[in-house]
Amino acid sequence: MRLSKSFVPTLKEVPSEAIIPSHILMIRAGLVRQLSAGIYSWLPLGYKVIRKIMDIIREEMDAIGGQEFLYPALNPKEIWEQTGRVAAFGDTLFHIKNRDYVLAPTHEEIVAWHAQGAITSYKDLPQMWYQIQTKFRNEPRPRSGVIRGRQFLMKDAYSLDKDFEGLDASYAQQDKAYRKIFDRCGLKYFVVGASSGAMGGSKSEEFMVKSDAGEDTVAYCEKCGYAANVEVAQSIAEQGKHLAESKNIFEISTPNVKSIDELCEFLKIHEHETAKSRVYMHNDKPVLVLMLGNDEVNETKLSSVLGGEVRPCHPEELKEISGADAGSIGPIGFKHRIIADNLLKDANNLYSGANKNDYHIGGIDLNRDVPGIEYFDLRIAESGEKCVRCGSTLDVFKAIELGHIFKLGTKYSDALGVRFLDENGKDHPVVMGSYGIGVDRVLACFIEQNFDEKGLIWKKPLAPFDIQLVGLNMKNEIVSDTCDKLYMHLTELGYDVLYDDRRDVSAGFKFNDADLLGMPVQVVVGEKNLKEGKVEIKLRNTNEKQAIELVHLHTKLKELL
Ligand code: ATP
Ligand code: MG
Repeated sequence: MRLSKSFVPTLKEVPSEAIIPSHILMIRAGLVRQLSAGIYSWLPLGYKVIRKIMDIIREEMDAIGGQEFLYPALNPKEIWEQTGRVAAFGDTLFHIKNRDYVLAPTHEEIVAWHAQGAITSYKDLPQMWYQIQTKFRNEPRPRSGVIRGRQFLMKDAYSLDKDFEGLDASYAQQDKAYRKIFDRCGLKYFVVGASSGAMGGSKSEEFMVKSDAGEDTVAYCEKCGYAANVEVAQSIAEQGKHLAESKNIFEISTPNVKSIDELCEFLKIHEHETAKSRVYMHNDKPVLVLMLGNDEVNETKLSSVLGGEVRPCHPEELKEISGADAGSIGPIGFKHRIIADNLLKDANNLYSGANKNDYHIGGIDLNRDVPGIEYFDLRIAESGEKCVRCGSTLDVFKAIELGHIFKLGTKYSDALGVRFLDENGKDHPVVMGSYGIGVDRVLACFIEQNFDEKGLIWKKPLAPFDIQLVGLNMKNEIVSDTCDKLYMHLTELGYDVLYDDRRDVSAGFKFNDADLLGMPVQVVVGEKNLKEGKVEIKLRNTNEKQAIELVHLHTKLKELL
């Protein structure tokens, strides 16, 4: 492709609307343009990469027996009402004004609709259906460029099986295909067990990449691969102390001491000699949650321990329940249920609030002084703590979800009446699975992992072009002739070449653009080297340069690409 005739609008300046590297570079390198908040056009260079990702996805879906469909994006609202998902998606679902249509955010309903009445016998099963198509979600906070858009491309696959064993097998096939897809795309990713949210169903796993732009926080062990959303992640951390001798409890005046840090400072003690109190409401009853030192309560764990919804007490409620304000609450004399984090198990000689403003109590032995105390894992895992599986060091960081695989079960077949007859003529609901990949996100995440201060760094499988051919001074006839010939020759050899044949652009500008666009190999043709029968080759991933004789160019490129 000749750059002089192409629409590749590169920008020198960092666009003001972009914060994260992939978004900045996708705009600067002319891959995308934003039409409206969360709505992007893919420009030719960007769409070329999208097509490569879709090719890889199609190959791997076809390899596990996937059959490609194209379902409509415009759906009758009625079908979505039958599964209760108009309400479940709420404001995220786009509605068509004055018509009973919605724009599909995913396609379980439509798959079930097609299966209903068409899949009637066990002989029709299993099926693996997929599509690559535009999805619409009215995300409340579209951001990070195409990573969270209101319109985006998704590969969504659906398995239909006669029983849960069949579903397990389909799920395992998708899991394998996902690993192949992300490996082939050159992504560094990991897999996290997850809860399946609005989709419903039993088991699900998320394929994630580490990124500050992510909206999930995960704990990850590099050594054994343990990975979990911090909402549920476990870790091994230092226990509270159990000293041989338990003191008696004593009250101590602590004027204006509210936080654990202030208490430690005031009494010159270590944070692990203190227990922090948080009071929650559960089924209209207060529960005191004791944490070691400054540890924060993990509300997801708390609500699964207590069962059902929990909320922190309001300040007025707190005063009424305990007689004191936040900062002075503690387990001694607290008249309701008390639970503590596992790290406090059997701890003694602790300081905690006295349920009286400006006072604390010391010498607390939890087992002795808090009858009925119960211990659970209630903490938020933190970086540097130990992995529960292998004991090596955990890392906690932000991550982006690339793809998600779900075991749906019979939720959609039940709602839409998708049933089949088994060998004995007995009828059953079809068992479904659903498997999504964000195609735009794959591209953005690849960039998040492959760039430097100069620009993009493509690797062969996704690179829009293999080679960027740069003619330095195209007004020089020898240079432009050599470039034209090289362009033809390299193209004939099967390389995909982006040819910077622009005449009115300086060498410096061309170098910057080539680095920004980031093709794996640059072939730079200039007068000086040509006089010696040479051109320069630059590898974008290392930025290594090398002058090479024209006659050896092909051999060299074969070695590099
Ligand atoms: P998230 O938690 O990021 O909102 P999700 O759980 O809603 O994702 P799914 O419904 O599982 O996502 O959709 C499958 C895939 O589609 C996701 O793994 C992700 O890669 C992609 N995806 C989801 N929402 C968006 C979006 N708003 N913009 C771009 N891609 C998206
Ligand atoms: Mg979502």
